[in-house]
Amino acid sequence: MRIAVLPGDGIGKEVVPVAVDVLKAVLPGAEYVHIEVGHERFLREGVAMSEEDFENVKKCDCILFGAITTPPKKCYRSVILTLRRELDMYANVRPFKSCMVSPYNVDFTIYRENCEDLYCGMEEVSEDMVLSTRKITRHASERIARMACRRPGLKKLTIVHKANVLRSCELFRNVCIEVAKELSVPYEEMLVDAMAYSLIRDPSRFDTIVTTNLFGDILSDEAAALIGGLGLSPSANIGDRYALFEPVHGSAPDIAGKGIANPIAAVLSAKMLLEWAGRGKEAEMVQRSVDRTLADGVLTPDLGGVYKTSDVRRSLLKYLEAP
Ligand code: NAD
Repeated sequence: MRIAVLPGDGIGKEVVPVAVDVLKAVLPGAEYVHIEVGHERFLREGVAMSEEDFENVKKCDCILFGAITTPPKKCYRSVILTLRRELDMYANVRPFKSCMVSPYNVDFTIYRENCEDLYCGMEEVSEDMVLSTRKITRHASERIARMACRRPGLKKLTIVHKANVLRSCELFRNVCIEVAKELSVPYEEMLVDAMAYSLIRDPSRFDTIVTTNLFGDILSDEAAALIGGLGLSPSANIGDRYALFEPVHGSAPDIAGKGIANPIAAVLSAKMLLEWAGRGKEAEMVQRSVDRTLADGVLTPDLGGVYKTSDVRRSLLKYLEAP
């Protein structure tokens, strides 16, 4: 298996190498293709990801990604949005499962549509007004709904939208309901504002959530807080040909370079890569090493601990070497 490794910027450069070491411990035969992309590259070379980089990514089976700094004043096309769109990785799958350091007991997965919505890049910008187009299609709504409905062990689907106000959400909602009925999946629907409230009020009632791109982006950072933070929250971007695995968090410039970034979200993203590749046994080994590391109290400051990224790495590898 060829894995493209794109650490990106900031703490991406600190947590992705830990995830690669973990993968190497359980998957020694894989080939790792390192590619530098992102803001730091842009500042140096005037390009965040070249055509050649993109072609090299396409030659790999899957991608392990860190995070990219995207300054508000747009100076280049977002690398992650480009990869998601160009490689048609239409499903952003974000599992939130409590562990021993989590403040709440939750176990649900958000399926976020990954290629449309306000992120489609159709914007008319003038000095006093910006018009952003929200694109929602039957095709994209249907395929994310189908993937959510086919989640192994699904108990109930929650369709999140704002169809009382937005016609685009009405289409998304109707298509999701059609798919749920066709596949005989029990479902409920919830307006996104009520969902933001219920996620905090009663998070244990949720199982499988399907929603549009922007709502999924926001709700998943909220969900990350329920399990103990962004440092514990992995994700997968899945398409029919390519898949990219990345922590939910960004490049965290406030802690970058201090050696205290929590690498577990990146490591659990590598675990999702193993599951996607059909390496269930290796994925379980990684999960066990994470559980044992947390049980030992080897925690970075975001989890209330005093340990460094390198300490967590050492503990994970120790448990992988002596399972
Ligand atoms: P962020 O996720 O980088 O950080 C939010 C907060 O969580 C910060 O206080 C940070 O220190 C903390 N945090 C995040 N991950 C952590 C970890 N692994 N360990 C310990 N603490 C962690 O969000 P932000 O600050 O809003 O964004 C910073 C930059 O990242 C921005 O330029 C943004 O555009 C970019 N970003 C990129 C992606 C991506 O590439 N997929 C995703 C989100 C944000």
